[in-house]
Amino acid sequence: AGTLEDRILGGLDAEQREVASTLTGPVCVLAGAGTGKTRAITHRIAYGVHSGVYSPQRLLAVTFTARAAAEMRSRLRDLGAGNVQARTFHAAALRQLQFFWPQAIGGTLPNLLDHKATMIAEAARRLRLSTDRASIRDLAAEIEWAKVSMLTPANYLENAQGRGTPGGFDLTAVARVFQSYEDVKTDRNVIDFEDVLLITVGILQEDPKVAATVREQYRHFVVDEYQDVSPLQQRLLELWLGDRDELCVVGDASQTIYSFTGASPKHLLGFKKKFPEATVVKLVRDYRSTPQVVKLANELLGSRRSGGPVADAAWAKPLQLVAQRPAGPEPRFMECPDDEAEAAVVAGRIRELLDAGVQASEIAILFRTNGQSEAYEQALASAGIGYQLRGGERFFARKEVRDAILQLRAATRAAADTAGEPLGQLVRDIVASLGYSDSAPHGGGALRERWESLAALVALADELVANRGPEFSLAEFVNELQERSVAQHAPTVQGVTLASLHAAKGLEWDAVFLVGLSEGLMPISFADTPEAVDEERRLLYVGITRAREHLSLSWSTARTPGGRANRKPSRFLDGLRPDTVAGASARSRPLTRRKPAAPASCRVCGSMLATGAERKIGRCRQCPPSYEEQTFEALRQWRKDEASSAEVPAFVVFT
Ligand code: ATP
Ligand code: MG
Repeated sequence: AGTLEDRILGGLDAEQREVASTLTGPVCVLAGAGTGKTRAITHRIAYGVHSGVYSPQRLLAVTFTARAAAEMRSRLRDLGAGNVQARTFHAAALRQLQFFWPQAIGGTLPNLLDHKATMIAEAARRLRLSTDRASIRDLAAEIEWAKVSMLTPANYLENAQGRGTPGGFDLTAVARVFQSYEDVKTDRNVIDFEDVLLITVGILQEDPKVAATVREQYRHFVVDEYQDVSPLQQRLLELWLGDRDELCVVGDASQTIYSFTGASPKHLLGFKKKFPEATVVKLVRDYRSTPQVVKLANELLGSRRSGGPVADAAWAKPLQLVAQRPAGPEPRFMECPDDEAEAAVVAGRIRELLDAGVQASEIAILFRTNGQSEAYEQALASAGIGYQLRGGERFFARKEVRDAILQLRAATRAAADTAGEPLGQLVRDIVASLGYSDSAPHGGGALRERWESLAALVALADELVANRGPEFSLAEFVNELQERSVAQHAPTVQGVTLASLHAAKGLEWDAVFLVGLSEGLMPISFADTPEAVDEERRLLYVGITRAREHLSLSWSTARTPGGRANRKPSRFLDGLRPDTVAGASARSRPLTRRKPAAPASCRVCGSMLATGAERKIGRCRQCPPSYEEQTFEALRQWRKDEASSAEVPAFVVFT
């Protein structure tokens, strides 16, 4: 009941409502974590659809992680706009590519490569270069960077000066591996994830007919998490848009966490310059987290300790998040003797939360590297707590999942006996041959893991039928799996989420455990430039701001029990953590916190600050300004452009 405005705009604050009701022209929302950016744009889409301004098939919403895309789709469904497409860049491009490949290139789309490392190793072998796991990883990262920067093996060298020696190779050798890798893929008739975007860009650029068709199809674009757009994704977006400006972007420069792969917030921060007529809205009210969590997030970014990284007091305030929720528990800081003890303490604490009625699906353990997850898997398993195995990222690389997809695909070809039987039963029958049965096997180990994966596929089939209707077919299911595999979107498994900090962005849980917060892991040891350290800090900021209520920050002083206690707590905790910290042996409890002093060392490189001016901004002159400072600068610039408006309302709006 109620008017459309009431129903869709009712649950928004004034600034969010401005976003949601500005249905045409460029719109940019620049705001911190938990301030309702995603909420504002999903409501904007729903409002536009229900008021008839958008036709749902003509709008494309893109975001960066598949979980975030799924989250957006489910929010849109709740608002009665479930027929709008919300996808990752990759999934959206793949769809278009599947459609246009036969006409633009001919033949059928090659298979997608999900195990890059093997191909890179082969590429290096062909050149008789010797590699190991670490150098393969570095080469893979470098080639990915080159591709998202739209460099080819031919022009890599001239554009990669200053990139060091990836994988221990000079840049000439890297360029050769890059070329060899491209050859290996061609020989095997596979394409990688970056190719999906590159080829789509290529077709849109070269084939005006295809470009016209795509632009006819999509008239309005919405991009979430825009701070992490790569040059390649930006190019794709520009090609989708053509000369139009029906684009709404939202982002938070302080959450830029993919610049190591070539992403950059410069498009977010430069939006107003590119589209001078854009509506720019700023949000600062944090609706997600308790004041305790918000305070920690603000302090981490340094705005509080230094009185704001920028001297202008009138603007120092809006940079901070302003908590809206009632007070909650103090964040817990826990120091543990070793990794095993840390995992045990975390599992014990999770048990307490579960006993207190917190849902397992509302709890997450977040870590810096995927290798850290194993200790937690073991601790949770021995505490009898269900968890989402290995996080989502590697789900589609598991053998049983790949086998299942092959069998499901084969079954779609096996003619019309696909008809009549409900999808759920069909999927059960097919994966039964791989070891699935309706009841879980006893015990843990590999058998159990295998069963969990297959059960997750079955559950996904059931879920899709429930959401999309009984006519949802096996072929559509296989397509969906393909898209999810591109987007690394594993089906949900009930239980505690184990995920990397990178995979957690945009998401939220009641209770969040940030683990392994010691030097070497956070910041990670290979973050050896001021820029890289700054990115690590933002990653921790993303982690902290995932928590609605309970937040735990822990680290251990030695790796293994009885090992050398040579680890130091993360430098990012300086000034945040209390003097005395609960240890693993002591029961952790809320602690009173010391007031942090003005920083005497640079928050980027850690060197001593020489002058008062440096101390005020918390950064030495050698280090580059952080993205937060740049955000601020961008805002101040717009503010200057708007000089005529004598009084700008507190947190709002630059129209
Ligand atoms: P992130 O930067 O982490 O992606 P975000 O800015 O996109 O965060 P949302 O996820 O949209 O934030 O919102 C955070 C939480 O606050 C969600 O649970 C959302 O439903 C809630 N929320 C946002 N705005 C409001 C509001 N006006 N009233 C009540 N709850 C709100
Ligand atoms: Mg969001």
